[in-house]
Amino acid sequence: TISPAIFPPLIRAVQADIAANAEAVTELDQAIGDGDHVFNLQRGLQALAEQADAIAPLDWPAAWQKIGMTVMAAVGGASGSLYATLFIALHKHSRDSSVSGFAAAFAAAVEAVKQRGKADVGEKTMLDVWVPVALALQQDAEAGKSLDELLDHLCQVAAAGVEATRDMLATKGRASFLGERSLGHIDAGAKTAQLIVAAVARVLK
Ligand code: ADP
Ligand code: MG
Ligand code: MG
Repeated sequence: TISPAIFPPLIRAVQADIAANAEAVTELDQAIGDGDHVFNLQRGLQALAEQADAIAPLDWPAAWQKIGMTVMAAVGGASGSLYATLFIALHKHSRDSSVSGFAAAFAAAVEAVKQRGKADVGEKTMLDVWVPVALALQQDAEAGKSLDELLDHLCQVAAAGVEATRDMLATKGRASFLGERSLGHIDAGAKTAQLIVAAVARVLK
């Protein structure tokens, strides 16, 4: 089983990958958003990095709560409140540290994000990554796939989710103000969700 002791290296890996892709993601958010997505995310990650050693010894419910509160306090923007919602919901639904237990909690947490943002798949947002990832995670956990196989699969599903946003019309968030002009651009929040999945998978492998 995986404990919150993994949190410090996880945060470092996510920070490194977001930093490595900062320019590319900012260009995406400048094309159909207001260009601050990387800045918002990095503020949250920096706050989490500062709390990482305090989070490491906690159990999962307490860890998710601290993560959620930290993100809520540190980050503005749509993405900040949506990620805070995700982590607080993980706190509420966290049962045990098995993969299937996490899969169920994660599915419930993504559901909470949908409600918070009044959005669903197909609207050109981070949900186009998180919804299929949550579903694949539940299916793979149920099928008893090895952690290695499961993580590879989640990375593939996340990459496909990002790519799918290119041809979607944005109907939520700032990009929705652009109407048809949002077509042809990948959503920045979907891209960073995929970067997070890939970084987490790399550390867990
Ligand atoms: P803001 O749009 O407030 O400047 P960010 O730039 O940090 O905030 O985040 C923008 C990202 O948030 C978008 O690219 C999209 O993926 C995601 N997003 C925006 N609105 C919603 C929503 N209602 N539901 C889910 N995700 C959303
Ligand atoms: Mg923005
Ligand atoms: Mg903004």
